[in-house]
Amino acid sequence: MSGSQEGLSGGRWILLALLAVCVLDIRLFMFVDAARTETLERALDTLHVSAEVVARRMDQHLATYDRLLSGIAEGVRLHGGMSTAPDLALHRLLVRRHALNPELRSLFLVRHDGTVAAMSLSFPAPQLDVSARDYFQAQSGSGADEHRLFVGPAIISKLTGRHIFPLSRRVENDGNRFLGVAAAAVDPELLTTLLIEQGLPAGYTLSVFLRDGHRLACLPRRADCVESTAADTPLFRTLLPAAADGLFARQRLLDEPAGPAAYATSNAYGIIVAATADERVLLQSWRRNLGSYVTLAAASNLAFAGLAWFAFRQFRRRRLALQQLADANQELENRVARRTDQLRRSEDRARTFMNTARDAVVVIDSNSCIVEFNRAAEALFGYRAEEVAGRRLDMLMPPAQAPAHRQHVQAANASVDARAMNRGREVTGRHKDGHEFPIDVTVGSAGEGPQSVHVGIIRDISERKVMERELQRQASTDGLTGVLNRRAFTAESERLISVALRHGRPLSLMVIDADHFKKVNDVFGHPTGDAVLKALALTLAQALRTSDVLGRLGGEEFGIVLPETDATGAHEVGERLLQAVRERRIEHDGHTLNITVSIGATVLGAGDDSFESAFLRADRALYEAKHGGRDRAVLKLGGQPTG
Ligand code: GH3
Ligand code: MG
Ligand code: MG
Repeated sequence: MSGSQEGLSGGRWILLALLAVCVLDIRLFMFVDAARTETLERALDTLHVSAEVVARRMDQHLATYDRLLSGIAEGVRLHGGMSTAPDLALHRLLVRRHALNPELRSLFLVRHDGTVAAMSLSFPAPQLDVSARDYFQAQSGSGADEHRLFVGPAIISKLTGRHIFPLSRRVENDGNRFLGVAAAAVDPELLTTLLIEQGLPAGYTLSVFLRDGHRLACLPRRADCVESTAADTPLFRTLLPAAADGLFARQRLLDEPAGPAAYATSNAYGIIVAATADERVLLQSWRRNLGSYVTLAAASNLAFAGLAWFAFRQFRRRRLALQQLADANQELENRVARRTDQLRRSEDRARTFMNTARDAVVVIDSNSCIVEFNRAAEALFGYRAEEVAGRRLDMLMPPAQAPAHRQHVQAANASVDARAMNRGREVTGRHKDGHEFPIDVTVGSAGEGPQSVHVGIIRDISERKVMERELQRQASTDGLTGVLNRRAFTAESERLISVALRHGRPLSLMVIDADHFKKVNDVFGHPTGDAVLKALALTLAQALRTSDVLGRLGGEEFGIVLPETDATGAHEVGERLLQAVRERRIEHDGHTLNITVSIGATVLGAGDDSFESAFLRADRALYEAKHGGRDRAVLKLGGQPTG
């Protein structure tokens, strides 16, 4: 079970949380920044509109005063100019006009020589010379500007000693000759009132300037307002020469620190209105909110960090648990691998053992189906292991043996004792080519019921059987002549006699002894004697039926059992044997000799109950034959000798 399969891993959770925190923080920052920008933009709009409005209002007022002074100038022209004496008509003209614009401090007329000719506030006018004043100088020349309204910077009134702004207009006659100046004194407070009418929120400033930088009004009020000049500020040095009016964001206009600022110009009268705002004041509420935003950001960051930490801890725990599980799994796998390895080695050993075993090993299950078949088994039965795997064991035995084997396996399945190794049993095996051979089987069983398996260790005992038969043959055969020895002959005779007695069949018994055999040995030597004995045995055997049994009883004495032979038959056989021996020429070691034998014969009688009694009778018959002259047969029946 890996991280990718269990969904988002702890690391990914943390990354996701960090990402969310970043996105949230960025969104918050953008929001806060936008709020700030919006505050400043709004302020800038307010500033621009305020500057524009104030400039237009200044224009309107100055246009009103321009018309007022133009009207007065027209009146003076119609009046025929200004005389040196006080003129009540001119005074009344000024008083009437002043009544139209009572906000003006005063209206007055100046003669062409600079002396005051009339004044709206008093008659006669005070004796004053204003020829040096700018408002007079500006209009007394003959340039184009002389026909415009002059708006001057603040001056100290010679009459009141207070600050006034002078407005003036040239007075001409029909021939355009300079007659003097119509002027108005404007109370600086009037302009300030115009600004106040506009109204500005806290933190904003409004200033009205002349083209040369002289201040006409300030809001908020300042003591040095009308005495100061802004000629050396960025507005007058760089901005105005470049653009008549404009809207600026955070541009330093005047002496105040950089902040939102805007200015507007009145082209008609050369008035400039500048509006600025103190960024710190503007952003006060924004800053107050900023605290909330930062708190919010910190709280959300903290929440996300907590979430991420929680997720990370969970992940770490889970990873630890998974690691422990994986370790345990690994340990288990290692153990299984070790066990598998051990099993494999054990299996290899078992297989090697099986395949190197000289004995055939065949393992069957509880159904007698073959599950293991080693190489020796392959060699023994002629099948390859693949051919017999899963097939019934019956195929390896003669059909007649199969039922008994099946019963044996069933008994072994059911028996707990079946685990014990059975002693070897001699049964018959069947080769692939069909030939059958004797085998010795030792069976060991394991498990019970359907789970049981039976291991058969099988040995081919063909050779042993041959050897056993040979040993048996040797044990029952006379070494010199090859006929049965005395023991075997006796046993066979007893068997045939008991059969004959049981079935009431005739049977004859003969004892044969070579005549004067001692002489043969004495004359020709013992080896020739042996050769004679061999020839004698062969001669007797050749003269007998296959059903007759010939044996050497010892020395040069032989015994013969003739089944199914009565006295007549015995007599005939005796004669035939005598004849055969007599006629036999025996050649050995350059000698040719022939011998004779004496035969004692008897026929099994009703009184005989064993070999011994019959044999004794035959032996007595032999004795009689010897004494009768040898080379003859004597037959004794029931103790009655016949010759
Ligand atoms: P008869 O039977 O006619 O009375 O005379 P015989 O000379 O045959 O006497 P007997 O049967 O007593 O002697 C048997 C002899 O046979 C004695 C022994 O030297 C000899 N003999 C016994 N067994 C063997 C044998 O295995 N080989 C040889 N060469 N001689 C044997
Ligand atoms: Mg003898
Ligand atoms: Mg003899």
